[in-house]
Amino acid sequence: MGFSKMELLGLWQTTHKCRQSIRIMIGLYTSRGVLHDLPMALSGEHTVALLAILVICAWEVYRLAAWVMAAPRTADPWGPDIELSLNRDDAVPVCHHCFTPQEHNGWFCPTCGAIVGRYGNYMPYVRVFAIGEVLRAGTTKRVPRSALITIGFILLSIDMFAVAAPVYWFFLFRNLRRLRPMPPAPPS
Ligand SMILES: [Zn+2]
Repeated sequence: MGFSKMELLGLWQTTHKCRQSIRIMIGLYTSRGVLHDLPMALSGEHTVALLAILVICAWEVYRLAAWVMAAPRTADPWGPDIELSLNRDDAVPVCHHCFTPQEHNGWFCPTCGAIVGRYGNYMPYVRVFAIGEVLRAGTTKRVPRSALITIGFILLSIDMFAVAAPVYWFFLFRNLRRLRPMPPAPPS
């Protein structure tokens, strides 16, 4: 039994198509397998790692809380008698600027206008006055001359005035220069 040249070519084409289809099917299967299984395997591993990290973090937070709770309470920065008098029921708050007793519910000291309200810094409107008070102190008041405080004034002024901050720095450094301790005068 013999095949003609045309029949052989047709047979080869058919088997070639079959092989091609099988290859495509295998490819589809494996690619689908890869696409479906790999992320699942990865997410599973990630979940386990994430859970382990969370457990470690929770344990460390618990240890930190236990350590803080176990520490003895101190009355710093002042002595125990001042701490006791501060916590008395009849203690009266005073203005941090002029020491006038503050027996009202307002945000400002009636004597000097300083911010004295207990939660003033949490109120967006009142907070602006408190920041203004701090910035004004940098240019007009006697402030401690230290690098940390100067950097604080610079950063706060950048936050408040943006590109106009250098104008503030001019007045800030003029005030700081003014506050520089003078060398003792030579004896005459
Ligand atoms: Zn006051």
